[in-house]
Amino acid sequence: MEWKIPDLKELEEKIWRCTACGTCKVAYEFGPPTKSAEICPAGAEFGFEGFMASKGKIAFARGLLSGELQWDDELLDAVYKCTVCAGCQSQCQLDHKPYIPEIIEAMRRKAVEDGIGPMPTQKKITQSLRSYNNPYQGPRRVRTDWTRPFKKAKKPIKDINIEPAQVLFYVGCTGAFNLPARSVPVATASIFQKLGVDFGILGENEICCGSTAMRIGDSSEFKRVAEENLETFKRLHLDRGVNTIVTSCAGCYRAIKKDYSLAAGYEESLNGIKVIHTVEFLYNLLKGGKLNLEGKLPWKVTYHDPCHTGRHLNKFIIDKDGTQLWKGAYVGVNEEECLYDIPRELIKAIPGIELREMGRIRANSYCCGGGGGVMTGYGEWAATNASKRISEGMETGADYMVSICPFCHYNLNEGAKRIQSAMKLLDLVELIDQVLPELS
Ligand code: SF4
Ligand code: SF4
Repeated sequence: MEWKIPDLKELEEKIWRCTACGTCKVAYEFGPPTKSAEICPAGAEFGFEGFMASKGKIAFARGLLSGELQWDDELLDAVYKCTVCAGCQSQCQLDHKPYIPEIIEAMRRKAVEDGIGPMPTQKKITQSLRSYNNPYQGPRRVRTDWTRPFKKAKKPIKDINIEPAQVLFYVGCTGAFNLPARSVPVATASIFQKLGVDFGILGENEICCGSTAMRIGDSSEFKRVAEENLETFKRLHLDRGVNTIVTSCAGCYRAIKKDYSLAAGYEESLNGIKVIHTVEFLYNLLKGGKLNLEGKLPWKVTYHDPCHTGRHLNKFIIDKDGTQLWKGAYVGVNEEECLYDIPRELIKAIPGIELREMGRIRANSYCCGGGGGVMTGYGEWAATNASKRISEGMETGADYMVSICPFCHYNLNEGAKRIQSAMKLLDLVELIDQVLPELS
Protein backbone atom coordinates (compact mmCIF):
# COMPACT_ATOMS: atom_id res chain seq x y z
CA MET A 1 0.00 0.00 0.00
CA GLU A 2 1.31 3.47 -0.91
CA TRP A 3 1.58 6.01 1.93
CA LYS A 4 2.04 9.78 1.87
CA ILE A 5 4.11 10.08 5.05
CA PRO A 6 6.54 12.96 4.44
CA ASP A 7 10.22 12.84 5.31
CA LEU A 8 12.19 15.81 6.60
CA LYS A 9 13.44 16.72 3.12
CA GLU A 10 9.88 16.92 1.77
CA LEU A 11 9.03 19.31 4.60
CA GLU A 12 12.10 21.50 4.07
CA GLU A 13 10.26 24.47 2.56
CA LYS A 14 7.77 24.41 5.51
CA ILE A 15 10.61 24.17 8.02
CA TRP A 16 12.07 27.46 6.75
CA ARG A 17 8.75 29.23 7.37
CA CYS A 18 9.34 29.29 11.15
CA THR A 19 10.50 32.80 12.06
CA ALA A 20 11.63 31.85 15.59
CA CYS A 21 9.20 34.47 16.92
CA GLY A 22 8.42 32.41 20.04
CA THR A 23 4.62 32.81 19.96
CA CYS A 24 4.38 29.05 20.43
CA LYS A 25 5.52 29.47 24.04
CA VAL A 26 2.16 30.22 25.55
CA ALA A 27 -1.57 29.68 25.23
CA TYR A 28 -3.34 32.87 24.34
CA GLU A 29 -6.80 34.18 24.77
CA PHE A 30 -6.50 37.38 22.82
CA GLY A 31 -9.21 38.87 24.99
CA PRO A 32 -10.07 41.41 26.15
CA PRO A 33 -8.67 40.89 28.66
CA THR A 34 -5.66 39.15 27.13
CA LYS A 35 -4.64 35.99 28.97
CA SER A 36 -1.65 33.75 28.60
CA ALA A 37 -0.27 30.62 30.22
CA GLU A 38 2.26 27.91 29.45
CA ILE A 39 1.22 25.53 26.69
CA CYS A 40 4.31 23.39 26.09
CA PRO A 41 4.81 20.61 28.65
CA ALA A 42 8.43 20.20 27.49
CA GLY A 43 9.16 23.91 27.83
CA ALA A 44 7.42 24.02 31.22
CA GLU A 45 9.60 21.20 32.56
CA PHE A 46 12.95 21.58 30.87
CA GLY A 47 13.21 25.23 29.87
CA PHE A 48 12.11 26.65 26.59
CA GLU A 49 14.46 28.98 24.81
CA GLY A 50 16.09 27.41 21.81
CA PHE A 51 15.85 23.95 23.23
CA MET A 52 12.53 22.24 23.72
CA ALA A 53 9.34 23.67 22.26
CA SER A 54 8.65 23.95 18.57
CA LYS A 55 10.87 26.98 17.97
CA GLY A 56 13.89 25.02 19.18
CA LYS A 57 12.82 21.77 17.57
CA ILE A 58 12.46 23.47 14.20
CA ALA A 59 16.03 24.72 14.55
CA PHE A 60 17.07 21.10 15.11
CA ALA A 61 15.21 20.13 11.91
CA ARG A 62 17.13 22.77 9.95
CA GLY A 63 20.40 21.57 11.45
CA LEU A 64 19.65 17.95 10.59
CA LEU A 65 18.74 18.89 7.04
CA SER A 66 21.80 21.00 6.45
CA GLY A 67 24.07 18.41 8.05
CA GLU A 68 25.25 20.93 10.68
CA LEU A 69 23.74 18.75 13.40
CA GLN A 70 24.58 15.09 13.84
CA TRP A 71 22.67 12.73 16.07
CA ASP A 72 24.03 12.32 19.55
CA ASP A 73 22.34 11.33 22.81
CA GLU A 74 21.57 14.93 23.72
CA LEU A 75 19.91 15.78 20.41
CA LEU A 76 17.93 12.55 20.42
CA ASP A 77 16.73 13.26 23.95
CA ALA A 78 15.63 16.78 22.96
CA VAL A 79 13.66 15.51 19.96
CA TYR A 80 11.88 12.86 22.03
CA LYS A 81 11.17 15.10 25.03
CA CYS A 82 7.93 16.23 23.41
CA THR A 83 4.41 14.88 23.84
CA VAL A 84 3.52 15.87 20.24
CA CYS A 85 0.54 17.58 21.85
CA ALA A 86 0.33 20.26 19.13
CA GLY A 87 -0.06 22.97 21.75
CA CYS A 88 2.67 24.97 20.02
CA GLN A 89 0.84 24.50 16.71
CA SER A 90 -2.29 26.05 18.16
CA GLN A 91 -0.40 29.20 19.15
CA CYS A 92 1.73 29.67 16.03
CA GLN A 93 0.07 32.18 13.70
CA LEU A 94 2.48 31.94 10.79
CA ASP A 95 2.50 29.89 7.59
CA HIS A 96 4.56 27.30 9.39
CA LYS A 97 1.63 26.41 11.69
CA PRO A 98 -0.04 23.54 9.80
CA TYR A 99 3.13 21.45 9.70
CA ILE A 100 4.66 21.59 13.20
CA PRO A 101 3.76 18.14 14.64
CA GLU A 102 4.55 16.58 11.24
CA ILE A 103 8.04 18.12 11.34
CA ILE A 104 8.64 16.86 14.88
CA GLU A 105 7.53 13.37 13.87
CA ALA A 106 9.59 13.52 10.65
CA MET A 107 12.69 14.15 12.78
CA ARG A 108 11.79 11.08 14.80
CA ARG A 109 11.30 9.07 11.61
CA LYS A 110 14.76 10.15 10.53
CA ALA A 111 16.16 9.12 13.91
CA VAL A 112 14.61 5.65 13.51
CA GLU A 113 15.79 5.35 9.89
CA ASP A 114 19.29 6.44 10.95
CA GLY A 115 19.26 3.62 13.51
CA ILE A 116 19.47 5.83 16.62
CA GLY A 117 15.81 6.37 17.56
CA PRO A 118 13.54 5.95 19.37
CA MET A 119 14.78 6.40 22.96
CA PRO A 120 16.15 3.15 24.45
CA THR A 121 13.16 2.84 26.82
CA GLN A 122 10.74 3.33 23.92
CA LYS A 123 12.25 0.52 21.88
CA LYS A 124 10.19 -1.95 23.89
CA ILE A 125 7.04 -0.37 22.39
CA THR A 126 7.89 -1.42 18.87
CA GLN A 127 9.48 -4.70 19.98
CA SER A 128 6.21 -5.48 21.74
CA LEU A 129 4.23 -4.47 18.66
CA ARG A 130 6.26 -6.88 16.56
CA SER A 131 5.86 -9.73 19.07
CA TYR A 132 2.37 -9.17 20.44
CA ASN A 133 0.64 -6.64 18.16
CA ASN A 134 0.22 -4.30 21.14
CA PRO A 135 2.63 -1.90 22.88
CA TYR A 136 2.08 -3.38 26.37
CA GLN A 137 3.84 -6.75 25.98
CA GLY A 138 0.46 -8.32 26.66
CA PRO A 139 -0.28 -11.85 25.47
CA ARG A 140 -3.13 -12.01 22.95
CA ARG A 141 -5.49 -13.88 25.28
CA VAL A 142 -5.30 -11.05 27.88
CA ARG A 143 -6.89 -8.65 25.40
CA THR A 144 -10.37 -9.88 26.33
CA ASP A 145 -9.91 -10.02 30.12
CA TRP A 146 -11.99 -6.84 30.49
CA THR A 147 -15.02 -8.73 29.11
CA ARG A 148 -15.13 -11.20 32.06
CA PRO A 149 -17.82 -9.29 34.03
CA PHE A 150 -20.08 -9.50 30.98
CA LYS A 151 -19.61 -13.26 30.66
CA LYS A 152 -20.23 -13.68 34.39
CA ALA A 153 -23.43 -11.64 34.15
CA LYS A 154 -24.49 -13.80 31.17
CA LYS A 155 -24.40 -10.78 28.91
CA PRO A 156 -21.67 -11.89 26.51
CA ILE A 157 -20.31 -9.43 23.98
CA LYS A 158 -20.69 -10.49 20.37
CA ASP A 159 -17.56 -11.86 18.69
CA ILE A 160 -17.57 -10.08 15.36
CA ASN A 161 -15.18 -12.66 13.92
CA ILE A 162 -18.05 -15.12 13.82
CA GLU A 163 -21.27 -13.07 14.12
CA PRO A 164 -22.48 -10.08 12.10
CA ALA A 165 -22.99 -6.67 13.76
CA GLN A 166 -23.50 -3.15 12.47
CA VAL A 167 -21.06 -1.60 14.93
CA LEU A 168 -17.47 -2.65 15.56
CA PHE A 169 -16.33 -1.49 19.00
CA TYR A 170 -12.59 -1.02 18.44
CA VAL A 171 -11.36 -1.26 22.03
CA GLY A 172 -7.72 -0.18 21.68
CA CYS A 173 -4.69 -1.54 23.53
CA THR A 174 -4.75 0.87 26.50
CA GLY A 175 -8.33 0.03 27.40
CA ALA A 176 -7.62 -3.68 27.01
CA PHE A 177 -4.22 -4.03 28.69
CA ASN A 178 -3.86 -1.14 31.12
CA LEU A 179 -5.63 -2.35 34.28
CA PRO A 180 -6.96 1.00 35.62
CA ALA A 181 -8.07 2.07 32.13
CA ARG A 182 -10.14 -1.10 31.62
CA SER A 183 -13.06 0.75 33.18
CA VAL A 184 -13.35 2.61 29.84
CA PRO A 185 -14.23 -0.38 27.59
CA VAL A 186 -16.30 -1.89 30.41
CA ALA A 187 -18.45 1.26 30.66
CA THR A 188 -18.65 1.59 26.86
CA ALA A 189 -19.87 -1.98 26.36
CA SER A 190 -22.29 -1.63 29.28
CA ILE A 191 -23.78 1.50 27.70
CA PHE A 192 -24.09 -0.20 24.31
CA GLN A 193 -25.84 -3.19 25.88
CA LYS A 194 -28.26 -0.97 27.80
CA LEU A 195 -29.03 0.91 24.58
CA GLY A 196 -29.47 -2.30 22.61
CA VAL A 197 -26.73 -1.36 20.12
CA ASP A 198 -25.91 -4.17 17.68
CA PHE A 199 -22.16 -4.26 18.32
CA GLY A 200 -19.29 -6.70 18.42
CA ILE A 201 -15.57 -6.79 19.18
CA LEU A 202 -12.61 -8.41 17.46
CA GLY A 203 -11.42 -9.77 20.82
CA GLU A 204 -8.08 -11.58 20.57
CA ASN A 205 -7.94 -10.71 16.86
CA GLU A 206 -7.85 -6.96 17.49
CA ILE A 207 -4.41 -5.47 16.88
CA CYS A 208 -2.93 -2.09 17.82
CA CYS A 209 -3.98 0.95 15.77
CA GLY A 210 -0.30 1.93 15.51
CA SER A 211 -0.66 5.40 17.01
CA THR A 212 2.25 5.08 19.44
CA ALA A 213 4.56 3.67 16.74
CA MET A 214 3.70 6.64 14.51
CA ARG A 215 4.24 9.18 17.29
CA ILE A 216 7.72 7.83 18.10
CA GLY A 217 8.78 7.72 14.46
CA ASP A 218 8.53 4.02 13.60
CA SER A 219 6.52 4.42 10.42
CA SER A 220 7.28 0.86 9.20
CA GLU A 221 5.65 -0.70 12.23
CA PHE A 222 2.79 1.82 12.03
CA LYS A 223 2.18 0.93 8.38
CA ARG A 224 2.24 -2.79 9.09
CA VAL A 225 -0.54 -2.67 11.68
CA ALA A 226 -2.50 0.08 9.89
CA GLU A 227 -2.60 -1.91 6.65
CA GLU A 228 -3.76 -5.01 8.49
CA ASN A 229 -6.47 -2.98 10.26
CA LEU A 230 -7.67 -1.38 7.02
CA GLU A 231 -7.98 -4.83 5.45
CA THR A 232 -9.86 -6.09 8.53
CA PHE A 233 -12.27 -3.13 8.47
CA LYS A 234 -13.00 -3.69 4.79
CA ARG A 235 -13.56 -7.41 5.35
CA LEU A 236 -15.85 -6.76 8.32
CA HIS A 237 -17.92 -4.40 6.20
CA LEU A 238 -18.28 -6.93 3.39
CA ASP A 239 -18.65 -10.12 5.48
CA ARG A 240 -20.16 -8.96 8.77
CA GLY A 241 -22.19 -5.89 7.78
CA VAL A 242 -20.15 -3.41 9.84
CA ASN A 243 -21.06 0.17 8.90
CA THR A 244 -19.71 2.00 11.96
CA ILE A 245 -16.44 1.74 13.87
CA VAL A 246 -16.72 3.22 17.35
CA THR A 247 -13.78 3.74 19.67
CA SER A 248 -13.52 5.24 23.15
CA CYS A 249 -9.79 5.86 22.71
CA ALA A 250 -8.61 9.29 21.59
CA GLY A 251 -5.36 7.85 20.23
CA CYS A 252 -7.07 5.15 18.13
CA TYR A 253 -9.62 7.68 16.91
CA ARG A 254 -6.93 10.12 15.75
CA ALA A 255 -4.92 7.33 14.15
CA ILE A 256 -7.82 5.82 12.18
CA LYS A 257 -9.28 9.20 11.17
CA LYS A 258 -6.07 11.04 10.36
CA ASP A 259 -2.95 8.85 10.18
CA TYR A 260 -4.71 6.15 8.15
CA SER A 261 -5.93 8.79 5.69
CA LEU A 262 -2.31 9.02 4.48
CA ALA A 263 -2.77 5.60 2.83
CA ALA A 264 -3.60 5.56 -0.86
CA GLY A 265 -6.34 2.96 -0.28
CA TYR A 266 -7.94 4.72 2.69
CA GLU A 267 -11.21 5.80 1.05
CA GLU A 268 -11.68 2.42 -0.57
CA SER A 269 -10.95 0.45 2.62
CA LEU A 270 -13.40 2.52 4.64
CA ASN A 271 -16.02 2.76 1.92
CA GLY A 272 -19.41 2.45 3.62
CA ILE A 273 -17.92 2.69 7.13
CA LYS A 274 -18.17 5.68 9.46
CA VAL A 275 -15.47 6.05 12.12
CA ILE A 276 -16.63 7.85 15.24
CA HIS A 277 -15.65 8.35 18.86
CA THR A 278 -18.06 6.90 21.42
CA VAL A 279 -19.04 10.35 22.68
CA GLU A 280 -20.08 11.36 19.16
CA PHE A 281 -22.12 8.17 18.84
CA LEU A 282 -23.87 8.92 22.16
CA TYR A 283 -24.35 12.59 21.33
CA ASN A 284 -26.18 11.65 18.11
CA LEU A 285 -28.54 9.52 20.21
CA LEU A 286 -28.98 12.37 22.69
CA LYS A 287 -29.93 14.76 19.89
CA GLY A 288 -32.40 12.20 18.53
CA GLY A 289 -34.02 11.85 21.98
CA LYS A 290 -32.73 8.28 22.30
CA LEU A 291 -30.34 8.73 25.23
CA ASN A 292 -32.45 8.78 28.33
CA LEU A 293 -30.25 9.82 31.26
CA GLU A 294 -32.28 9.15 34.37
CA GLY A 295 -30.00 8.96 37.37
CA LYS A 296 -28.51 11.92 39.13
CA LEU A 297 -24.85 12.77 39.77
CA PRO A 298 -24.64 15.71 42.17
CA TRP A 299 -21.02 16.36 41.27
CA LYS A 300 -18.90 19.31 40.23
CA VAL A 301 -16.68 18.20 37.34
CA THR A 302 -14.09 19.76 35.10
CA TYR A 303 -13.34 18.56 31.57
CA HIS A 304 -9.87 17.82 30.17
CA ASP A 305 -9.65 18.00 26.34
CA PRO A 306 -7.35 15.21 25.07
CA CYS A 307 -4.97 16.51 22.39
CA HIS A 308 -5.93 13.65 20.06
CA THR A 309 -9.64 14.43 20.04
CA GLY A 310 -9.02 18.18 20.03
CA ARG A 311 -6.43 20.18 18.16
CA HIS A 312 -4.95 17.09 16.46
CA LEU A 313 -8.14 17.05 14.38
CA ASN A 314 -7.81 20.64 13.17
CA LYS A 315 -8.07 21.20 9.45
CA PHE A 316 -5.92 24.08 8.25
CA ILE A 317 -6.98 26.38 5.45
CA ILE A 318 -4.06 27.20 3.20
CA ASP A 319 -3.97 29.64 0.31
CA LYS A 320 -2.87 27.08 -2.28
CA ASP A 321 -2.78 29.34 -5.35
CA GLY A 322 -2.02 32.73 -3.81
CA THR A 323 -5.43 34.25 -4.52
CA GLN A 324 -6.21 35.17 -0.89
CA LEU A 325 -2.87 36.23 0.60
CA TRP A 326 0.12 34.55 -0.96
CA LYS A 327 0.92 31.04 -2.12
CA GLY A 328 1.18 28.70 0.86
CA ALA A 329 -0.18 31.25 3.35
CA TYR A 330 -1.94 29.98 6.44
CA VAL A 331 -5.43 31.47 6.21
CA GLY A 332 -7.44 29.89 9.00
CA VAL A 333 -8.39 26.79 10.93
CA ASN A 334 -11.47 24.61 10.72
CA GLU A 335 -12.27 22.99 14.09
CA GLU A 336 -15.43 21.20 12.90
CA GLU A 337 -13.99 17.73 13.61
CA CYS A 338 -12.50 18.61 17.00
CA LEU A 339 -14.50 17.08 19.84
CA TYR A 340 -14.76 20.22 21.98
CA ASP A 341 -18.50 20.82 22.32
CA ILE A 342 -19.83 17.25 22.15
CA PRO A 343 -18.35 15.97 25.44
CA ARG A 344 -19.37 19.19 27.19
CA GLU A 345 -22.94 18.88 25.90
CA LEU A 346 -23.08 15.29 27.15
CA ILE A 347 -21.73 16.29 30.57
CA LYS A 348 -24.31 19.05 30.84
CA ALA A 349 -27.06 16.57 29.91
CA ILE A 350 -26.31 14.48 33.02
CA PRO A 351 -28.83 15.44 35.70
CA GLY A 352 -27.32 17.09 38.77
CA ILE A 353 -23.88 17.74 37.32
CA GLU A 354 -22.11 21.09 37.30
CA LEU A 355 -19.35 21.71 34.75
CA ARG A 356 -16.54 23.97 35.94
CA GLU A 357 -14.03 24.90 33.27
CA MET A 358 -10.27 25.19 33.74
CA GLY A 359 -8.37 28.14 32.29
CA ARG A 360 -6.68 26.15 29.50
CA ILE A 361 -9.32 24.36 27.48
CA ARG A 362 -10.26 23.38 23.92
CA ALA A 363 -7.44 24.39 21.50
CA ASN A 364 -5.53 25.83 24.48
CA SER A 365 -5.82 22.64 26.55
CA TYR A 366 -2.74 21.68 28.53
CA CYS A 367 -1.62 18.17 27.55
CA CYS A 368 -1.80 15.46 30.25
CA GLY A 369 1.84 14.71 29.45
CA GLY A 370 1.48 11.08 28.43
CA GLY A 371 1.42 11.24 24.62
CA GLY A 372 4.11 11.07 21.95
CA GLY A 373 5.81 8.11 23.65
CA VAL A 374 6.53 10.19 26.77
CA MET A 375 4.71 7.88 29.20
CA THR A 376 7.10 5.07 28.24
CA GLY A 377 10.17 7.17 27.50
CA TYR A 378 9.96 9.60 30.40
CA GLY A 379 7.49 8.16 32.92
CA GLU A 380 8.51 10.51 35.74
CA TRP A 381 8.00 13.61 33.62
CA ALA A 382 4.66 12.28 32.31
CA ALA A 383 3.35 11.89 35.88
CA THR A 384 4.77 15.26 37.04
CA ASN A 385 3.11 16.99 34.12
CA ALA A 386 -0.18 15.21 34.87
CA SER A 387 0.07 16.51 38.45
CA LYS A 388 0.17 20.05 37.05
CA ARG A 389 -3.01 19.44 35.09
CA ILE A 390 -4.71 17.87 38.12
CA SER A 391 -3.74 20.91 40.22
CA GLU A 392 -5.32 23.14 37.57
CA GLY A 393 -8.48 21.04 37.80
CA MET A 394 -8.48 21.31 41.60
CA GLU A 395 -8.44 25.11 41.34
CA THR A 396 -11.92 24.98 39.80
CA GLY A 397 -13.32 23.37 42.96
CA ALA A 398 -14.42 20.32 40.95
CA ASP A 399 -14.73 16.89 42.59
CA TYR A 400 -13.71 15.00 39.44
CA MET A 401 -11.87 15.57 36.22
CA VAL A 402 -13.57 14.01 33.19
CA SER A 403 -12.05 13.09 29.84
CA ILE A 404 -12.54 10.81 26.83
CA CYS A 405 -9.23 8.96 26.51
CA PRO A 406 -7.93 5.86 28.36
CA PHE A 407 -4.38 7.24 28.02
CA CYS A 408 -5.30 10.50 29.78
CA HIS A 409 -7.27 8.35 32.27
CA TYR A 410 -4.19 6.43 33.31
CA ASN A 411 -1.71 9.30 33.25
CA LEU A 412 -3.86 11.91 35.02
CA ASN A 413 -4.72 9.42 37.77
CA GLU A 414 -0.99 8.74 38.16
CA GLY A 415 -0.50 12.53 38.42
CA ALA A 416 -3.20 12.78 41.08
CA LYS A 417 -1.49 10.05 43.12
CA ARG A 418 1.82 11.91 42.91
CA ILE A 419 0.41 14.93 44.69
CA GLN A 420 -1.93 12.89 46.87
CA SER A 421 -4.87 14.69 45.35
CA ALA A 422 -8.39 13.50 46.09
CA MET A 423 -9.27 14.42 42.52
CA LYS A 424 -9.83 11.41 40.28
CA LEU A 425 -10.03 11.25 36.52
CA LEU A 426 -13.13 9.52 35.22
CA ASP A 427 -13.96 8.84 31.61
CA LEU A 428 -17.18 10.38 30.38
CA VAL A 429 -18.52 6.89 29.54
CA GLU A 430 -18.15 5.94 33.22
CA LEU A 431 -20.45 8.84 34.14
CA ILE A 432 -22.98 8.07 31.45
CA ASP A 433 -23.07 4.38 32.39
CA GLN A 434 -24.01 5.39 35.93
CA VAL A 435 -27.04 7.44 34.86
CA LEU A 436 -28.27 5.26 32.04
CA PRO A 437 -31.06 2.88 33.03
CA GLU A 438 -31.00 -0.81 32.08
CA LEU A 439 -32.78 -1.76 28.87
CA SER A 440 -36.34 -2.60 29.86
S1 SF4 B 1 6.72 27.62 15.47
FE1 SF4 B 1 5.46 29.40 14.84
S2 SF4 B 1 5.16 30.57 16.75
FE2 SF4 B 1 6.86 29.15 17.13
S3 SF4 B 1 8.71 30.30 16.66
FE3 SF4 B 1 8.15 29.22 14.76
S4 SF4 B 1 6.84 30.66 13.59
FE4 SF4 B 1 6.97 31.44 15.72
S1 SF4 C 1 4.07 19.41 20.55
FE1 SF4 C 1 3.61 19.98 22.70
S2 SF4 C 1 5.37 19.20 23.91
FE2 SF4 C 1 5.99 19.20 21.73
S3 SF4 C 1 7.03 21.16 21.41
FE3 SF4 C 1 4.86 21.49 20.85
S4 SF4 C 1 3.83 22.23 22.73
FE4 SF4 C 1 5.84 21.33 23.33
